[in-house]
Amino acid sequence: MDFIPTYDNYRQLLSIVKDTGKLCDYREAESRSLFLVLRHDIEFSIERAMEMSRIETEMGVQSTYFVQVRNNAYNAFSMQNTAMLLDMHRRGHKIGLHYHIGASSESKTVAREIREQCQLLQKMLQIPIDRYSMHRPIPETKYYETELPGLLNAYGSKFFTFAELLDDKTALQVKYISDAKHQWNYGTPDPETLRNAPKVQLLVHPDFWSEKTPGQKENFQSLIREHTLTFIDTIDNECRHFSPYRQEFENTVSSFSGR
Ligand SMILES: [Zn+2]
Repeated sequence: MDFIPTYDNYRQLLSIVKDTGKLCDYREAESRSLFLVLRHDIEFSIERAMEMSRIETEMGVQSTYFVQVRNNAYNAFSMQNTAMLLDMHRRGHKIGLHYHIGASSESKTVAREIREQCQLLQKMLQIPIDRYSMHRPIPETKYYETELPGLLNAYGSKFFTFAELLDDKTALQVKYISDAKHQWNYGTPDPETLRNAPKVQLLVHPDFWSEKTPGQKENFQSLIREHTLTFIDTIDNECRHFSPYRQEFENTVSSFSGR
């Protein structure tokens, strides 16, 4: 199965996921011998996450979206982004923390920051935050063993099998498939693989998927375009003296993306 991240292909992937009959939330998966959990880590764009969640709603699928609070690409607490996260939550998706390691990778600091950032998300969004996933996990943090009271770790042993060297043939209790680096890793989510593995965690990054820009470079271009247009809007809303330049900047960004 090639990695061609268009929304049509995502709909097909969701059909395969549903056909396994194993799709459930992490909380249910904790006590099941058969499960498939669907996870999304948001790296650059809450708009893209919102789009993906709409497709899932259309298809009757619910999943978890993990959001960062220390990210230079988006502010989870902007009015617009908060409204989108809450809309996703209202449609039955779960919101969790995508934890970005800070200045120290020392395990006590990591544990404290995860707790604080989950509390912060919970306070700002006014919804329960009971789970987190780690961004770019590094083995020194023992991320796969960390157990924090009341917080579900997406890389915890119930949902993820840690192996020093992981390839397609490593025997694992939980089959983990991810689309990191714009490709399928550790296997592909084809019907046979998803059906045969008793326990599956599937990680799909909304930032890579779009209506029609499946190529890696095209996708980066469209992400940069979307991000810049949002910024142009922000400046325009704040500064009256920006309006003479708006069209010119918009044209530059649009021609760059080649959409
Ligand atoms: Zn990440």
